Amino acid sequence: MYVLGIESSCDETAVALYHASKGLIAHTLYSQIATHAEYGGVVPELASRDHIRKLVPLIKTVLKEAELTAKDIEGIAYTAGPGLMGSLLVGAATAQSLAWTWQIPAIAVHHMEGHLLAPMLEDNPPTYPFVALLISGGHTMLIEVRAIGKYRLLGESLDDAAGEAFDKTAKMLGLEYPGGPKLAELARSGQNRFKFPRPMTDRPGLEFSFSGLKTFTMNALHATQQTEQDKADIAFAFQQAIAETLSIKCKRALQQTQLKTLVVAGGVSANQEIRQQLQQMATKEGADIRFPRPEFCTDNGAMIAYAGCQRLMAGQTQNLEIFARPRWPMEQLISL
Ligand code: ATP
Ligand code: MG
Ligand code: FE
Repeated sequence: MYVLGIESSCDETAVALYHASKGLIAHTLYSQIATHAEYGGVVPELASRDHIRKLVPLIKTVLKEAELTAKDIEGIAYTAGPGLMGSLLVGAATAQSLAWTWQIPAIAVHHMEGHLLAPMLEDNPPTYPFVALLISGGHTMLIEVRAIGKYRLLGESLDDAAGEAFDKTAKMLGLEYPGGPKLAELARSGQNRFKFPRPMTDRPGLEFSFSGLKTFTMNALHATQQTEQDKADIAFAFQQAIAETLSIKCKRALQQTQLKTLVVAGGVSANQEIRQQLQQMATKEGADIRFPRPEFCTDNGAMIAYAGCQRLMAGQTQNLEIFARPRWPMEQLISL
């Protein structure tokens, strides 16, 4: 079964083709970063207009790359939420129109389920059950995963998401949007000089809170001459604080659930320092840890095609409703 995957929840237009037994066949992505950079963040109206321009050409590109035609496609998976309403509608309407024209099923995929399943695209995929840490631009969640669609939220951020904290801190340090990867690069020339707090690690529980780190960054920055080295040292301290906090909470989640596999996904899981610290913690705990390849940490079409393929193969169906949910709790998903 060949499934076309469409991702358009935010500022990436991405398309992929996944085959139930052959695996990932082709994938492509157009990032709108340049469009939004001058505004310092995503402008929703510009995002949806850009998805309209790019989506159909990207679908054509993927089919051509795979040397397939529309007749070969047996299902279409699209991101139905959470995300920006206008952007989601472009993906949903395109997917449903093609599904109706080609007389094949379409399936709505939850964006965070896509992220969570991205490590399944790798050679050595994790086995269920496992603990998942999802760290992205809009979410920070620890989830107990029993099977596809069987999710129990263990803890989440009470305020800023991890990626949001990276981006806002990067902005304060004068880095361009999206600042997460740029902050990580700057941190490489930083030294261990500032000690930032590890929020909410001094009490039990699996909740996160990252918004206080912004004030801490601001105060630290203003106490210096704001040289490049000062900024690098602050970036280093900030990244250490996030990495250690995530590591402490993941260790707790593994102990609490008695599970021995940790899956880490979402844009922030591309961060090398975070990957290393989590890896060290997992080794100490005798747990397996799995990440997606870096390009599938951030938004992509492959994770949506994979998730949709699993759901279609399990017989899940959907009518022609253009289903889009800017907010969509994961626990409402149908389990396979
Ligand atoms: P969500 O998935 O919650 O809807 P999103 O789709 O915008 O949000 P992703 O595409 O998963 O988020 O990830 C983007 C986020 O990841 C941004 O905040 C970005 O700064 C961050 N990010 C990407 N690479 C890195 C890195 N190497 N270090 C830190 N943060 C990073
Ligand atoms: Mg993005
Ligand atoms: Fe995402």
